[in-house]
Order: sequence, then structure tokens, then C-alpha cells
Amino acid sequence: MKNLVIAIDGYSSCGKSTTAKAVAAALHYAYLDTGAMYRGVTLFLLENNIAFDDMPRIEQVLHDEIHLSFKRNRRTGRNELCLNEVIREDDIRQMRVSNSVSEVSVIAQVRHAMVAQQQRLGRKRGVVMDGRDIGTTVFPDAEVKIFMTADVEVRARRRQDELTAAGQDVPLPDIIENLRKRDHIDSTRAESPLRRAADAVLLDTTHITITEQVDFVLDKVSSALFAAYAHKING
Ligand code: C5P
Repeated sequence: MKNLVIAIDGYSSCGKSTTAKAVAAALHYAYLDTGAMYRGVTLFLLENNIAFDDMPRIEQVLHDEIHLSFKRNRRTGRNELCLNEVIREDDIRQMRVSNSVSEVSVIAQVRHAMVAQQQRLGRKRGVVMDGRDIGTTVFPDAEVKIFMTADVEVRARRRQDELTAAGQDVPLPDIIENLRKRDHIDSTRAESPLRRAADAVLLDTTHITITEQVDFVLDKVSSALFAAYAHKING
């Protein structure tokens, strides 16, 4: 089977990562959560009191002090983000990181470093990546591109359920505000903003289940594989 790149972009908390993980598992593909990488950089800057406008220091730590990787947790089966070899998955999901991550993701030097690493990690293809700029910037040649959206209140309720399950009690209005703020910053930044690639398929998850989302993407994958096969046999 041809190894494809499947790019899943869209607004915050639309179910991108849940869908991407299930699609990767069904296809035996790798899964890369690019948002976790921006969260890892944000956590490092916050913990080391580095101002988001201190460009020389940010460039230096990106080069010398921040090492991001993923490790599979055997117990949960999840791929977890490691910052300098230490699993920090729970810490990067805290609200203090969510409240700052979009400001950090605006920084061109941060984006260049993350995009280069994502391109390296996906170079063998056979990967599902979720993020904001995968179909436009990281892998503009991805064979399958999905752009996910959903009503903000529905997204916030789903996010609240995840946070509650992780032991964080956050009021709904705070979550709605955070999602709106992140969507705005992500869509309006100069460097690789969140936008739907011209060839991305729109998927609105407001009224559909996870299973339906996954089936929708797998259906697009089948079509892409069929197109690749037909192209090959027709020369
Ligand atoms: O996907 P997640 O919500 O964890 O992403 C956190 C933040 O990371 C986003 O709000 C966005 O600011 C940034 N991000 C990005 N580009 C990506 C993935 C995430 O700018 N490819």
C-alpha cells in the first residue's frame, strides 16, 4: 500500500487529534501531534521565564536547549511528548500553557524550527499529522487534506470533558474564551496562519460522532489510494 501523508488541520478542539490517532491506528501509520510540539516549546519558555519577545534567547534555546521527541506510553498506548527526554504530556495540557501557546506559535523562529522537525519526522510518509498548517506549509503535497471545524460551544464542552477527566476543573466560559482567542491568533498571524488549503476537504464535526469523523477520513484515504493506483496503471 502506498504510504500517504494525511494532513488534518482546523480550529482548536474540533476532535482533530482523536480522529488522527484513530485513522493512524486503522492504517498502521505513524501519528504526529504537532500542537504538542508548540506546547512543549511554550512550557519550556514559561518554566525558564523567557519573555516571548526575547528573540536572541529564544533562538538560542531552540538551537541548544529544547529537544522535543515522542515516546510511546506502554500502559496507555499514547504517544507522549518528551521535553529534554522527560515525558511532559500532562504539563503541556495545563491551561497556563493553553493560554500562552498561540502567542509562542506566532514567533517565526519557533515555526521554522517546528516545521523543519515535522518535515523530517514525516519524510518517510505513512503518517497522519494534525495541526494548523500541515496541508498548507508542512506537507503541501499531502495526498489527503482535511480541514475540521465545529461550533465553538460544542468544542468547549468536549474540551471541558477532557479536562475534567484529567482532573482539571475549568469553567466553560474560560474555555470558550481560550478557544476563541487561540483561533483568532492562529488565523491572523503572518507566518503560516491557520487556513484551509485550496484542496482540503471541509469536515464540520458539530453534529457527528468520532466514528463518523474517522469513517469520513478513511473514505478520503481510500479515494486517494485508488487515484494513486489508477495513475500508476494508466501510466
Ligand atoms: O492542537 P493544539 O490545540 O494542541 O495546538 C495548540 C496550539 O499550537 C494552537 O492553538 C496553535 O497556536 C499552535 N499550533 C500551530 N501550528 C500547528 C499546531 C499547533 O501553530 N501545526
